[in-house]
Amino acid sequence: MKASQFFISTLKEAPADAEVVSHKLMMRAGMIKKLGAGIYTLMPMGLRVVQKVEAIVREEMNRAGAVELSMPVVQPAELWQQTGRFGSMGPELLRIADRHGNDFVVQPTSEEVVTDIARQEIRSYKQLPKNFYQIQTKFRDERRPRFGLMRGREFVMKDAYSFDRDQASAKASYQVMAKAYRRIFDRFGLTYRAVAADSGAIGGDLSEEFQVIAATGEDAIVYCPTSDYAANMEKAEALAPVDPRKAASQAMVKTPTPGMATCADVATFLNIPLWNTVKSLVLATDETNVAGEVCKTQVWLLLLRGDDSMNEVKVSKVPGLATNRRFATLAEIDEHFGCEPGYLGPLGLKKPVKLVVDREVAVLADWVCGANEADFHITGVNWGRDLPEPNLVVDIRNVVAGDPSPDGLGVLAIERGIEVGHVFYLGTKYSQAMKATFLDQNGKPQFMEMGCYGIGITRLPAAAIEQNHDERGIIWPDALAPFTVVICPINAERSPDVKAASDALYAELMTAGVDVMLDDRGERPGAMFADWELIGVPHRVNIGDRALKEGNVEYQRRREAAATAVPLADIASVLL
Ligand code: ATP
Ligand code: MG
Ligand code: MG
Ligand code: MG
Repeated sequence: MKASQFFISTLKEAPADAEVVSHKLMMRAGMIKKLGAGIYTLMPMGLRVVQKVEAIVREEMNRAGAVELSMPVVQPAELWQQTGRFGSMGPELLRIADRHGNDFVVQPTSEEVVTDIARQEIRSYKQLPKNFYQIQTKFRDERRPRFGLMRGREFVMKDAYSFDRDQASAKASYQVMAKAYRRIFDRFGLTYRAVAADSGAIGGDLSEEFQVIAATGEDAIVYCPTSDYAANMEKAEALAPVDPRKAASQAMVKTPTPGMATCADVATFLNIPLWNTVKSLVLATDETNVAGEVCKTQVWLLLLRGDDSMNEVKVSKVPGLATNRRFATLAEIDEHFGCEPGYLGPLGLKKPVKLVVDREVAVLADWVCGANEADFHITGVNWGRDLPEPNLVVDIRNVVAGDPSPDGLGVLAIERGIEVGHVFYLGTKYSQAMKATFLDQNGKPQFMEMGCYGIGITRLPAAAIEQNHDERGIIWPDALAPFTVVICPINAERSPDVKAASDALYAELMTAGVDVMLDDRGERPGAMFADWELIGVPHRVNIGDRALKEGNVEYQRRREAAATAVPLADIASVLL
């Protein structure tokens, strides 16, 4: 592709409504354009990224034995009435009427339609298992569309639906999908975690979300660094040994002076023998705390009383502390806080540690945490958007029943994630509601066992950017980049050699099937480089007269600080 033929439209500033970095950068790089709340045009540059996502998802779905179809975006309400979802779904479901007054919905997902297909098409056990998928536009009238493509109202989802003859086979189909999802997210080159999610009324463990780890993620996830336990917050809360909400009503931190709290304040307020029973406690106030009071500041405290057998304690973003760091022993904490040895150790905390809160922090989510004693849990705990990961570490027994860590003394780490995929075993919920049966080996009708599997196709590039960017712009993993290589000829209009070398390299890479862009716009080098760094193309070749005289070109990897000189004769093989 030549830049003169393509459409490139970059911005110096992001629009004011762009809060998170991915939204800002996608707007600035000219990848998306807003049409309305949660509704975006995919501009040519953005569409290329989305198509890369689609291609990998399609390849892996096909490899896993799923078959692609395409279901209507606008669906008759009648089917949705059969499952009851036309009435029960709430305002996220966009309901429309045609000229005859017939009700329709715009698909937010497609269980009804796919089940309707299956009940008509699948007669015998011999036709099972089947997995149908589509990559299609969805509409959800989200309460709070935001962050650009991250939480749109119109978005593209890959949705797959498996049909099986029995539970065992359905669970096998689920595992095939879960495995395919790992391959997919591995190929994107993203750091992610598969976490247990709430499986609703069906029960069991067969619901997992795939969460791309990012500080700006809307979901909180809990994992154990020493075991394979990982769950989203709802799931972890559901397993908590005490009713945290009830326990919370008594717990709130009052700050004597606005923006200031001491450990002693907390101890007094909680009215508990804190120093004798509490090993660790992390809490924070929110804009509105559990008592409904508005406090505009956020406080992070780590209260300690225990012994050196605590294997790890992390103080996260305690305002007033210069750095966030991990402490291996209580003695180290003493030292860091400037206390005499033993203050925070076995003798207890004698001198309150004063924590000064000096700024407002945007709040993302609520979470329950507390002491490792029943009934001392605290709700209304929140994270600031700028907290490092993992945000905090709490004693594992605070949160999870049944000690998922191997030694029972592990810690739980909490970090934030972006849900990019979800696999879900459905059982016969939809097949029963819609009477989708097949004949088994004995000629008896049976309800089909189902599963559903979603991937946020348009959310994924946003999640990738949250994880891969710097102050100059996006840094695409190769698999997602709109162009893999960009050639930047420098002053080509004045140098026939530069032009010839650029054209030749372009032709060679094109022939080899590389997604290559030739920037023939005649821009100044600085402007050209800034554009491609913003857009995030992972490999750039600068071809200029000076280096060319020595037979070289400049090869710049987006992820690296400096360019390297590469002989013109070798550059194609370096890139291929
Ligand atoms: P969320 O918790 O973020 O609202 P969800 O659990 O409602 O997502 P699912 O019904 O599981 O979403 O849909 C499958 C996938 O579709 C999600 O994992 C997510 O990646 C994507 N998705 C859901 N809602 C949106 C949205 N509003 N914008 C973009 N992608 C979305
Ligand atoms: Mg949702
Ligand atoms: Mg969700
Ligand atoms: Mg989900």
